[in-house]
Amino acid sequence: MEFNLEEKYVEYGKKVRDFAQKEFTRALIEKCDNDEHYPEELRVKTYNEGIMDFTDPWKVLIGIEELCSVDESLGVAATTPYFGVEVLMLFGSDYIKEKYLAEVSKGKAIMGLAVTEPGGGSDVAGLTTTATPDGTHYLMNGGKMFITNGTIADYFVLLARTSNEEKRHHGLSCFLVESSWEGFTANKLKGKMGVRATDTAELILSNVKVPKENLIGEEGKGFNYIMTFFNISRIYVAAQGLGVAKGAINKAMEIVKAKGPGYASQESIQFAISEMATRLEAARLLTYKAATFLFNFNPNPTLTSMAKYYAAETAVFCTEKALEITGLEGLNSQLERFLRDAKILEIWEGTSEIEKLVVARNLLKEGKVS
Ligand SMILES: Cc1cc2nc3c(=O)[nH]c(=O)nc-3n(C[C@H](O)[C@H](O)[C@H](O)COP(=O)(O)OP(=O)(O)OC[C@H]3O[C@@H](n4cnc5c(N)ncnc54)[C@H](O)[C@@H]3O)c2cc1C
Repeated sequence: MEFNLEEKYVEYGKKVRDFAQKEFTRALIEKCDNDEHYPEELRVKTYNEGIMDFTDPWKVLIGIEELCSVDESLGVAATTPYFGVEVLMLFGSDYIKEKYLAEVSKGKAIMGLAVTEPGGGSDVAGLTTTATPDGTHYLMNGGKMFITNGTIADYFVLLARTSNEEKRHHGLSCFLVESSWEGFTANKLKGKMGVRATDTAELILSNVKVPKENLIGEEGKGFNYIMTFFNISRIYVAAQGLGVAKGAINKAMEIVKAKGPGYASQESIQFAISEMATRLEAARLLTYKAATFLFNFNPNPTLTSMAKYYAAETAVFCTEKALEITGLEGLNSQLERFLRDAKILEIWEGTSEIEKLVVARNLLKEGKVS
């Protein structure tokens, strides 16, 4: 058993951390947070400097962790232009890969993935947006809610209902939808609590003509494709949580030490530091174990859901504790924003409740834990 990262990953992590420390300036962080501004220049720089290396998923994981340890909001904004590419890589036709994936890979186009609807996100099989065959096209009607990159993405992987089956999830299909098409509208949602550098929108689809060649994979398999995608993206959300927790603990210790030895030696402060660091270590071990299964093409959804919810809850726990032990200095540092940003980790890609249900149902099926 080996717990140390290979040297190439240690070096990669340092490269990403140096990039974030240089580019995530206080001014940029505050502008994006105050004005809900999407940092397009940062997206381009991140691409040009090869910060997200999709040829190696470990680099993606470590890169996300390091970026989010400096600032979650900018870290996510810089890495979500590729949101959903795995669906194209795994299930897209050659046509879709050549026309769309190639543009995204060259940094020339932005992606989004639209599943959640105004009626709810957890019950994916209950979605109501329809795609009805109409000659050489499907006619798409409905609406999506809380979609990241909603007003800035060029392309969306979009899940819609193509038939009404007894088993609701059998009637869903995935499509590649261009935001420039007639009938497609995106309205930016403002006033979010956190991750305010990211663009979030509602999408309205009104008789959007989607060419048949833009169906991803097979009709009726969309639910499975999206669940496969969540088993990948949940690992990366867990990595966001590790980054936030690490950043919060380090900032808290900096402030505690600056308050002097008398403050740092208090038992309650030391208990808090110990609890935060222990949870981070446990979350990282769980995340890296789940990632090892996934990256070896043997995903373990139970471990993935455990990692996602535990790392997310760890991020929230650590940001709260960090604020508690740093008092006014903490509030005036960037820790207040760390807490606001952390909360979304318990929501997107499956809420903590949904992850816990996945874990329990899988365990009950097996009837034992290992
Ligand atoms: C900033 C932001 C960005 C997002 N980006 C995207 C995106 O890019 N693409 C996308 O498709 N979606 C996106 N989402 C949506 C996100 O995935 C959903 O918010 C999430 O899945 C929860 O869905 P919901 O908000 O509709 O809540 P609901 O599903 O209505 O759930 C409400 C509450 O009930 C609980 N609950 C629901 N069902 C059960 C159950 N069976 N048992 C116990 N508890 C339950 C939930 O845990 C939650 O606490 C984003 C959301 C936000 C806030």
